[in-house]
Amino acid sequence: MREVDWGGRDRRLTEGVRILCGGEDGKYPAANSLLVQGRSEAIVIDPSVEVVARGGVPVPVDAVVNSHAHEDHVAGNGVFPGARVHVHEADLPGIRSLDGFMAVFGIEHVETRRRWRASVLDEFHFAPRPDARGFRDGDVFELGGLAVEAVHLPGHTRGHSGFRVDGGVFYLSDIDLTGFGPYYGDAWSDLDDFEASLRRVRDEEADWYVTSHHKGVVEGRKRFLELLDAFEAVIGRRHDAMLEFLGEPRSLDELVERRFVYRPHVDTLLVEHVERRTATLHLERMRARGEVDEVEPGRFARRGRRGRAGAIRAAGSLSALRGEPDVEG
Ligand SMILES: [Zn+2]
Repeated sequence: MREVDWGGRDRRLTEGVRILCGGEDGKYPAANSLLVQGRSEAIVIDPSVEVVARGGVPVPVDAVVNSHAHEDHVAGNGVFPGARVHVHEADLPGIRSLDGFMAVFGIEHVETRRRWRASVLDEFHFAPRPDARGFRDGDVFELGGLAVEAVHLPGHTRGHSGFRVDGGVFYLSDIDLTGFGPYYGDAWSDLDDFEASLRRVRDEEADWYVTSHHKGVVEGRKRFLELLDAFEAVIGRRHDAMLEFLGEPRSLDELVERRFVYRPHVDTLLVEHVERRTATLHLERMRARGEVDEVEPGRFARRGRRGRAGAIRAAGSLSALRGEPDVEG
């Protein structure tokens, strides 16, 4: 593998930790990769499409560590054929084969699934690693005077993990603190798990919190907590907006069409898939909480609704929701 100079995109945080910044501040489909180098080993966490474009990273790499099995975080796995690959054991199938990767998403629509599969190969350079190894929460990569500890933070995917790096760096991956808010739009996403992970990560003490996208490096715990609060609040806003919309009986298809995640102009392949999974998870939560009733088969309505007034309020809260910046994770 080649050693490639990244120029101004190579940002050193501590003696052993550097960020290799993706294009456009790491805005999807780009992402920020972390290069961690001890006395005996170096690892790259989440090699991005930029790693593929440049053909390598600045130092020889002994192992690739993936925070989870999503296309933008594993794009560069194939650039390091001689390096070990590690991912949380729950996401292993998504690294080992393309079929396993596709299962993480669980796309129901046949044509969408076909097109996504092609995109993962053509635009994200997916290279299966049947030899990938699983880690668990608390496992430590000892790099020689520098340790990296895995912190399991599921919800985005089953195996999604952050990394606590000696010297005050915490890699948040797709708990990315963007205005878009938490992404739990796939088959392997879970809303309750995501919230539990947000509670867990809140206790992390670090000098630098590194996100995979857009926000990049967040300095200091005070700023981190501000952004974390705003990030988490998006979940409640989505939930309330859907509840308002259910002031009149609606089907899941109507929730999908109305959109509670993406703004109307966004036209990417997985929009409908993500809206459907997200709405399903919120609908399950509403039913568990007794907030909605299935008033006829496949149609749901808010309990104790007051007819038209609810629908008018819904329009107001939705436009507020759509004021969010348009960033994906
Ligand atoms: Zn992701």
